[in-house]
Amino acid sequence: MAFDVIRGDITKMRVDAIVNAANTTLLGGGGVDGAIHQAAGPQLLAVCRPLHGCQTGEAKITPGFKLPAKFVIHTPGPIWRGGTHHEAELLHNSYLNSLKLAEKNQCQSVAFPSISTGVYRFPLNEGAKIAVATILKFLKTATFVKDVTMVCFDEGTYEAYLMAIKAVG
Ligand code: ADP
Repeated sequence: MAFDVIRGDITKMRVDAIVNAANTTLLGGGGVDGAIHQAAGPQLLAVCRPLHGCQTGEAKITPGFKLPAKFVIHTPGPIWRGGTHHEAELLHNSYLNSLKLAEKNQCQSVAFPSISTGVYRFPLNEGAKIAVATILKFLKTATFVKDVTMVCFDEGTYEAYLMAIKAVG
């Protein structure tokens, strides 16, 4: 089993599944969601439409189409509203339900972006801790999922994830 943190662009990852920090409509948006739809091509939107959205913290899977990744797992993370609206629990659910769906689809390698810490304003250091803890715990019990990579788009995000790993030991 392996857990890595890298700087990069998740749309370039040749893995079984990349995770999309989507919104609840699953009809595309800005940030990493926009980049994934752009790189996957219009077929991705066409298969997302009949899914009729996804609730915050839940996850749905589609093919990757023109992406190097076989699947895209779409999960809407929580919008930060001060921390008193179950944001931490919902972010944990986004990571966990994405991993469960990867496992169900026999994915060996999975790549995540930093869910909710962009436009959704979840505090970066706290979000990184939740991501790292949830992924490491899941890896201990998973059968198919063996390699998880956190793909950080910017230096600040990368540093926050390195710190979160150090804190876990
Ligand atoms: P959210 O709405 O869940 O906050 P965003 O897309 O706004 O989602 O941001 C989530 C994280 O994804 C941010 O750290 C942002 O810098 C990052 N990001 C944006 N584009 C990419 C990409 N192509 N690959 C990986 N991460 C990306």
